[in-house]
Amino acid sequence: MSHASTRTITLTGLSAHVVDVEADAAPGDAELHLLGLPELSVWPARARIRAAILNSGTPWPDARITLSVTPALPVYNAAADLALAVAALAAAGLIPPERIAGRVFLGELALDGQIRPIRGVLPMVAAAVRAGFSTVVVPAECAWEAAHVPGAVVMPATWLADVVDQLRHAAFRDHHGREPDPAQSPSCAVDLADVPGNQAARRALEVCAAGGHHLFLSGDGPATMLAERLLGILPPLTGETAREVAEIHSLAGHPGRVPGVTPPLSAPHHSETAAAIFGSVAANRPGAVSLAHRGVLHLAEAPEFARPVLEGLCRPLDSGQVHLAGVGRSVRYPARFTLILDARPCPCPEGRDCACIPEVRRRYRARLAL
Ligand SMILES: [Zn+2]
Repeated sequence: MSHASTRTITLTGLSAHVVDVEADAAPGDAELHLLGLPELSVWPARARIRAAILNSGTPWPDARITLSVTPALPVYNAAADLALAVAALAAAGLIPPERIAGRVFLGELALDGQIRPIRGVLPMVAAAVRAGFSTVVVPAECAWEAAHVPGAVVMPATWLADVVDQLRHAAFRDHHGREPDPAQSPSCAVDLADVPGNQAARRALEVCAAGGHHLFLSGDGPATMLAERLLGILPPLTGETAREVAEIHSLAGHPGRVPGVTPPLSAPHHSETAAAIFGSVAANRPGAVSLAHRGVLHLAEAPEFARPVLEGLCRPLDSGQVHLAGVGRSVRYPARFTLILDARPCPCPEGRDCACIPEVRRRYRARLAL
């Protein structure tokens, strides 16, 4: 029988690394063995790969197939499914091994053989290009995003059966990467000139943008309208900063944000969980504070946020990043933002003419005294 190898990418936080995938087919039971994966991931990964291959119309190879991932992964990302499947099929002689050797494969397999979109395509493809593997096969939904990595040759794929067929016949269509085009990037459609009157608030926004200060808006003014308009007067994102912001949004599963010039606005609701605000190490997903990186974090009705959330803001405000620790690993996400807090004078919805006594108003505002 034979041996084949290919590559995929693993992500920890925004750090992406190339991972070698080897496959060996030997006479024996028609089984699939996985090495180098965390124990709890072996069974589901094997089940997905096996079902996807069988449902792609490919007969299961009459061989004992061993897949090895190097270096061993502390956490398995299903984005490696596609690489494992094509390596197994190449070792079994169903794909020419030389057609997968120089390529990187990214994509999660559904049981029916469909290739599902994945989060973090931008940092993963960038890491592949940096490591010298410019040709990457990605889920079709992610191809547009991946094509924004300069130097990448992107091959979109929707079904495992199509990948096998195209690799057999060397018939992949590809999209060459391109330099980010500022004209194509999302633009800020709102302008500070839209805000009627309110000279004090407009002046405060200008001071905020010029000096990099945070802002607290008190009262019943149009806080959301003002927060959105701060984006239009902040310095535009450029080069490395634009790339970093786009990679964070790619990892969060917001692929619409390709490298662009407009700073981002993140405005989580006060009912959001701490994981949604600060990120999740288990899911490797950045939170709202990181989605505001190099832009604006707007906390509307700030006293309504849970105290641990308000207290937790101190770390990113101080260091410009979030550090999350979980079982077996820790991650850091960038989180350097301009903070806009707004608060009504009291907790009731009536506004300034309500009947709340001064003590109620004082206690409400004191929730922000950290
Ligand atoms: Zn009131």
